[in-house]
Amino acid sequence: MIDSVAGEPLSEPSAAPSQSVPSQTVPSQTVPGQQEDGTMTVEEFEDDLSAAVAVAEKYWSAQFQASGQQFTPIRGLVPYERASEVACGNEGVPANNALYCSAGDFIAYDVDWAVWAFQQIGDAFLFYLLGHEYAHGIQLRLGVTFAHTIDMELQADCMAGAYIGDSVRAKALNLQEGDLQELRDGLTAVGDDPDQPWFAPGAHGTAQERSRAFFAGYEKSLDACGL
Ligand SMILES: [Zn+2]
Repeated sequence: MIDSVAGEPLSEPSAAPSQSVPSQTVPSQTVPGQQEDGTMTVEEFEDDLSAAVAVAEKYWSAQFQASGQQFTPIRGLVPYERASEVACGNEGVPANNALYCSAGDFIAYDVDWAVWAFQQIGDAFLFYLLGHEYAHGIQLRLGVTFAHTIDMELQADCMAGAYIGDSVRAKALNLQEGDLQELRDGLTAVGDDPDQPWFAPGAHGTAQERSRAFFAGYEKSLDACGL
C-alpha cells in the first residue's frame, strides 16, 4: 500500500521558495530498528525522521565538500494531515503520500499515513524513504536530468542506498539485525506494478529494479549511481 510513497517532485524548481518550513531538532543518537513491534508512536516516528535528516545532511555536506562545492541542506520537512493542506508550487499535496517538493525545496509527508506505513514496515525503511526523497533534492542541486522519470527514480534509490551504506561504514548509523531484510521487504513493497510500462510518467521501477539500484549504492557507494 505504499507504492505512491516515493512521490515525484510536483513542479519545477522555483527561484524563490515561499513556504515556511519548521526547523528540525537533531537527536544525538541515530539508531534505526528499535521499534519493530508496531508500537511506534508519532513522537518516535518524528525522532527517527529527524535523525534520518541529520544523517543525510551530514552525508551530503561531506560529499559536496569533497568535490569543492557549497552544500545547502533541504529547507526542511513539512508534515500534514489533510489533502491540499500543503501546497507545492500551485498544486495541493495529496493525502497518503511523501514527496520532495522542488518548488519549495522541502519534503512533505502525511503524518498519519507515514506513521502507519512505518508501523507496518519498520523504522529502518524510514531511512530509505527519507534518503530517496532527499536524493531528489540533491539531484536538483547537481542539475541532474534524465529523459525518463524511471532513471531519476532509480538513481534516487541508488543514492539512498549510498547514503545508508556509507553512513553505516562511517559509523554515523547503526543497522541492527533485521534492518537489511526490512529494507528488502520495503523495496519490494514500493515496486511498480509489473504491468506498468517503464517509460510511464510516474514509473519508479519494478521491485527488482529498485532493490538492485538501492543495494548497488548501499554496497558500492555513489560510483554505482553514476555520480
Ligand atoms: Zn522519487
